[in-house]
Amino acid sequence: VKKLPSDIEIARNAHLAPLTEVAAKVGIDESDLVPYGRHVAKVELEVIEKMADRPDAKYVVVTAITPTPLGEGKTTTAVGLAQGLARIGRKPVLALRQPSLGPVFGIKGGAAGGGYSQVVPMETLNLHLTGDFHAITAAHNLLAAMVANHLHFGNELGLDDIQWRRVMDMNDRSLRHIIEGCGAKTDGVTRQTGFDITAASEVMVIMALATSLADLRKRLGRIVVGFTTAKKPVTAEEIGAAGAMAALLKDALMPNLMQTLENTPAFIHTGPFGNIAIGNSSIIADRVGIKAGDILLTEAGFAADMGAERFFNVKCRAAGLTPQAAVLVATVRALKSHSGRYEVKAGKPLPEGMLQESPEDVEAGCENLVKHIQIIRDFGVQPVVAINAFPTDFDSEHDVIRRTAEKMGARVAVSTHVADGGEGAMELARTVVEACEDEVHFTPTYEFEDSLEEKITKIATKVYGADGVELSPAAAKSLKLYSDQGYGHLPVLIAKTQMSLSHDASLKGAPTGWTLPVREVRLAAGAGYVYAICGNMMTMPGLSKSPAAMRIDIDDEGNVQGLF
Ligand code: ADP
Ligand code: MG
Repeated sequence: VKKLPSDIEIARNAHLAPLTEVAAKVGIDESDLVPYGRHVAKVELEVIEKMADRPDAKYVVVTAITPTPLGEGKTTTAVGLAQGLARIGRKPVLALRQPSLGPVFGIKGGAAGGGYSQVVPMETLNLHLTGDFHAITAAHNLLAAMVANHLHFGNELGLDDIQWRRVMDMNDRSLRHIIEGCGAKTDGVTRQTGFDITAASEVMVIMALATSLADLRKRLGRIVVGFTTAKKPVTAEEIGAAGAMAALLKDALMPNLMQTLENTPAFIHTGPFGNIAIGNSSIIADRVGIKAGDILLTEAGFAADMGAERFFNVKCRAAGLTPQAAVLVATVRALKSHSGRYEVKAGKPLPEGMLQESPEDVEAGCENLVKHIQIIRDFGVQPVVAINAFPTDFDSEHDVIRRTAEKMGARVAVSTHVADGGEGAMELARTVVEACEDEVHFTPTYEFEDSLEEKITKIATKVYGADGVELSPAAAKSLKLYSDQGYGHLPVLIAKTQMSLSHDASLKGAPTGWTLPVREVRLAAGAGYVYAICGNMMTMPGLSKSPAAMRIDIDDEGNVQGLF
């Protein structure tokens, strides 16, 4: 087993190309770049108009089978594949989400790929980048301040049930529930509220789904901050905050250009949560990328039932872009965990038995892979199974994955991009290029005209494999209210665990004979969807007893330590 240097060591030894050179590879001019230091630049939105006559790149989403809590390598595979595509002479553009500071200081300690497939500089990527998240935090909290101020000055709009909370880009469980307006009368109206992490903010999703500055402005105005006693929605436009929010967000809407270890262009832009938010990077970055390169690769959060479902049903339709192919990342460790024989825990080493050679264990978990292949096919898109190779894997185990994919007529390739960089992803790159020649009959799961309940039911039954949906009385009431108010045409997101195709994290493989319980339904009118909450969704994570932050430091030269 080859021992790799740590991610940060590899990243620090990278040969970074001047960004102008990176941009030039995909026909973006120096005059369209707004440099943020030496290794990051924002790209002017005018570039979209300028490139309008160019042909569209092939649009490829990177998704995965149901993961273990460790993650199965969508980001590493997306980065490695971009590097591999460049090595076979293509012009790939990569589009990824920006990591949230919460997980960076919590458990993950960094999220820029791994090994020889990373986006660099990883310290910059993981810590602030160009400050977009801070701008989003400020815009979100400006609206919260103006709502509180509206109450203080007499509540002319008659706000009663206020849904708009505050956000911060940290894991801080003590802020989940707070009392605001303590003190004297001049200190504001006393009420209970709380904080969510910035990645869970509706403003984050609006930034991800906005197709232009004008669209951003409109979506901000449509945000519903709460309801009157008569259940009438009150919007950010009525509060008078939407214009100022747009002013705060104007620069943040420009996508951030960086590069991989092999100098392939990478857009890092927005970072909506995968559970209650859209879990995909921005449409704006994709609108630039689709004209700049010849293959645009983007990662969708979590597994194909979650991030890719939203990518196809919501993002592609909002963007007006047609997906060409989907890379389905599969690992030996995840399939072994789907055998139900092992339990993988976050922050803990893998169970001993999982490291033994066992094609039988992989075989026993393969129904999860089969189901995800089917999920992607149901969208009219062909999957390419990417076997993300770990140093602890055995060939016999890869063979099982390969055979399972081939039995379903799916393309498959082993990729060793983490150990070998782009060179290790060249077979995968060729396979993806081949898939890009397939004819696509893009078929979303539901029509916008379907009722909200029908949409939820279609996702649950057709994508997840549930027998049906069970709405709580509160959920049924909200669905009726939202359709009466004219929001019935919106798409729906389902907020559930990513650890299972079902709502129950303990159900591995491809569970059947279950019903999806919808506890609560909420409206995100600015983002443009309704979301159904199934189970307890964390919108403000906490830190563990020994968070990654305890191991992050700087050395005497100012190098950041402890991001791995
Ligand atoms: P995802 O994007 O699917 O959540 P990541 O690409 O972030 O997954 O990978 C999850 C973790 O697994 C990271 O710590 C990454 O460095 C590690 N990892 C991914 N692929 C490999 C691999 N082939 N070999 C070793 N470690 C890997
Ligand atoms: Mg990822």
